[in-house]
Amino acid sequence: MFPLQDFLKRQQAADLYRTRRVCEGQQGPRQRCDGKEMLSFCSNDYLGLAANPEIAESMRKATERYGVGSGAAHLVNGHSHAHHALEEELADFVGRERALLFSTGYMANLGTVSALVERGDFVIADKLVHASLIDAAKLSGARLQRYLHNEPDALQHRLVNTTSGKRLVVTDGVFSMDGDIAPLPELVSLTRDDQTALLVDDAHGFGVLGKQGRGSADQFGCHDDIDILMGTLGKAFGTFGAFVAGSNDLIETLIQKSRSYIYTTALPAAVVEATRTSLRLVKQADDRREKLQQLIKHFRSSAKQLGLELSGSQTPIQPLVLGTAEQALNVSQQLEQAGILVTAIRPPTVPEGSARLRITFSATHTEQDVDQLLLALEQCL
Ligand SMILES: *Cc1c(COP(=O)(O)O)cnc(C)c1O
Repeated sequence: MFPLQDFLKRQQAADLYRTRRVCEGQQGPRQRCDGKEMLSFCSNDYLGLAANPEIAESMRKATERYGVGSGAAHLVNGHSHAHHALEEELADFVGRERALLFSTGYMANLGTVSALVERGDFVIADKLVHASLIDAAKLSGARLQRYLHNEPDALQHRLVNTTSGKRLVVTDGVFSMDGDIAPLPELVSLTRDDQTALLVDDAHGFGVLGKQGRGSADQFGCHDDIDILMGTLGKAFGTFGAFVAGSNDLIETLIQKSRSYIYTTALPAAVVEATRTSLRLVKQADDRREKLQQLIKHFRSSAKQLGLELSGSQTPIQPLVLGTAEQALNVSQQLEQAGILVTAIRPPTVPEGSARLRITFSATHTEQDVDQLLLALEQCL
């Protein structure tokens, strides 16, 4: 075996060592982690659906009907009526011809990018896109170029300088570690020719933003212009899995070529049935989205009064950038001692020098919860 000690020691010395907490019970603002009662602000369960009884009940019922395992990949005999129905419902929801389920968002990005571009092509990515899109670009063999975060001019500059091959522009809709929103109409207008396409990873906008939670593009009214839309189901939807939506030709191409679609077992049908219930609830969840906006507003105005340095984010992701990994880790540990769980996000997840607390809100938090967080932040900072 290789000697791994040196690497582990280096990670520890640089405050980059990663560990896991063992949590008990249902996902929610109050959870027992490592045996201690915690108030948490780090989940992506934005609408508080991960432990929703109606969704859980539909999963239980579907387990009786379908059993547990899906048994095989979609192209073999793992593609059930449940999968087929959810794909149609998701396509309808986001107003595209088709949608295709993947087992995770990570796999959706890997399989989609690598099916659409190859050696000789380009993936042009916002500087802060999710790690899965970077891995996807590497896997595809296309050349990876980055453009300055949320700067359409920088993208245009990249596009002007890539004259051969196809160009796939990739961005998060809502950036996972910053909470800000991509300037989608500008990105759309730069990617209209038939050698260029735009992929939007809306993991954090889907369910939260836009009419009925249709996502960040809906908020801008440019939903129809996103060539390739990726949404995840494990965040606001509270279940598990992901999908890619777009034209019939896009989805047929992915079915032929996408290796992370073809060579993997389909999601359990019961999980898919849970997501169908979740989709119904997400559409009706204006009250939860409204509550979320109130909590965000409350947090931002109170944090400002305390003199905390906030970003411009208007979404449930509210980063508090602290600087070094050590600083972020230190504050996160102090909060933990006060019974508050906020994870420290360190490089390489975020750029060097921008280690942070990634605070996230859920519709199931109360204003009192937010006040408790603010009080603890005031004491540690
Ligand atoms: C979480 C996330 C993913 C991965 O989705 P999973 O379903 O958790 O694999 C992809 N992109 C972004 C922006 C994410 O935040």
